Amino acid sequence: MRKQAFFLFKKYPKLTYFYTVKIDYIIVGLGLAGLSFAEELITAKKSFLVFEDDSQTSSLVAGGIYNPVILKRFTPVWNAKEQLEIALPFYEKLAQKFNQKFDKKFITKKVFKSIEEQNNWFTALDKPNLTDYLDPNLDSKKYEGVIGDLCFGNVKETGRIDTKKLVEAYRDFLEKENKIQFEKFDYSKIEFEEDGITYKNIAAQKIVFCEGFGMKKNPFFNYLPLNEAKGELIIIHAPKLDIDFLVKSTLFVLPLGNHYYKVGATFNWNDKTSHPSEEGKMELVEKLQKVLNIPYEIVEQSAGIRPTVKDRRPLVGVHKKFPQLAILNGLGTRGVMIAPTVAKQLFHHIENQEKLDSEIDINRFSS
Ligand SMILES: Cc1cc2nc3c(=O)[nH]c(=O)nc-3n(C[C@H](O)[C@H](O)[C@H](O)COP(=O)(O)OP(=O)(O)OC[C@H]3O[C@@H](n4cnc5c(N)ncnc54)[C@H](O)[C@@H]3O)c2cc1C
Repeated sequence: MRKQAFFLFKKYPKLTYFYTVKIDYIIVGLGLAGLSFAEELITAKKSFLVFEDDSQTSSLVAGGIYNPVILKRFTPVWNAKEQLEIALPFYEKLAQKFNQKFDKKFITKKVFKSIEEQNNWFTALDKPNLTDYLDPNLDSKKYEGVIGDLCFGNVKETGRIDTKKLVEAYRDFLEKENKIQFEKFDYSKIEFEEDGITYKNIAAQKIVFCEGFGMKKNPFFNYLPLNEAKGELIIIHAPKLDIDFLVKSTLFVLPLGNHYYKVGATFNWNDKTSHPSEEGKMELVEKLQKVLNIPYEIVEQSAGIRPTVKDRRPLVGVHKKFPQLAILNGLGTRGVMIAPTVAKQLFHHIENQEKLDSEIDINRFSS
């Protein structure tokens, strides 16, 4: 019955205005979290509908960089190896599905600011989780336009997912399948039933909220400690700069091709808007003076809010009082690496009662 109703809805989406359509899941929000969860549902042949209102921009503006090393402290990123083992094939599968390329691998070159920092690199080489990633041979070459009095340290197995291209491709795909509605999800319209919920004319077993910073407006989950970390980026055109690696200094310079580079990102803990600001631009320009000494033109500026949590772990789990509601959020500064893993964990938690890692489970916070 559920399947038949969904088939009719797929063919005639306007039916929702007249009849109750039965589906397995509603997903609220289509950023990295939402699309990762949608992929789990597709694999498991579950029916679903996404609501997306364009209120947040994080996945659309993100640098999209994945890097298993925290270069400020020369420490490994939390669960980096395990996350990359799931994330990279995940993006490759999507690349094949949409016949588009999303992943670009490159070397990241860490700019050393002092001899002491350079020495710290050698100490870090022996750390068990870093040996695979840090190159013991420093790069002493000079690159036109890149400031660096000392050597560069090469980080391997880094790259970038073009998250904007991916989210847009995913939206198009869902639109063709009639599985997305571009409207604000109205929390007050949820009616709780014994075995699910009804939302307007849709009956679903579960709702998974993937709203990024939009979670602050969600009355069921806004007790969770999500912090705003606004980030701004610029895209520059530097005709004389010709590098195919990422430069990591106080900010990153990420090659996009044809002498275009993405430069970012700022951190602002007070501004809750997703609008680019003059202040953000000036901060990037000032910092860039210490990284590049070559003429460039700013061609674009963008901003978004990273959904971050104090303990730097995602927010995953099911609502204590309303088990029909679940959340996938708190991806912070590393959504690219984390999203596919935590989406899988949440899916198996809901469907197969697999226990969530206590580090990511929302039960670590009281309501
Ligand atoms: C400047 C910047 C640079 C970054 N760089 C990187 C990087 O290099 N590498 C990396 O891994 N990560 C990076 N990040 C972090 C990354 O962007 C996030 O971790 C990730 O995108 C969060 O994804 P999300 O799906 O949880 O949230 P979002 O991308 O914010 O998606 C949430 C979606 O839910 C929708 N929504 C919210 N409320 C509602 C509602 N009521 N109804 C309908 N829809 C709703 C929003 O419109 C939005 O589309 C960066 C972030 C920023 C801002």
